[in-house]
Amino acid sequence: MRSKDGYEIGNIISFLNVHRCFNCSKRYKTLNSLRRHRRVECGKTKDVICAICNHSFYYKQDLQKHIHKKH
Ligand SMILES: [Zn+2]
Ligand SMILES: [Zn+2]
Repeated sequence: MRSKDGYEIGNIISFLNVHRCFNCSKRYKTLNSLRRHRRVECGKTKDVICAICNHSFYYKQDLQKHIHKKH
């Protein structure tokens, strides 16, 4: 589908060097990072929180890695 603002591919809007998430309007320089965003974090909330430093994460695994590295 083509619109005056660029291309719309599913939930992604692509300009020359900007790829925008249709859902939340976050912008990325590469399509890959936007795809990652769509897969991993779009529409999700960071509801896994480190009890030590209050840092928040999307996934438990991320928190576990964080604790391993930082604490
Ligand atoms: Zn998004
Ligand atoms: Zn922490």
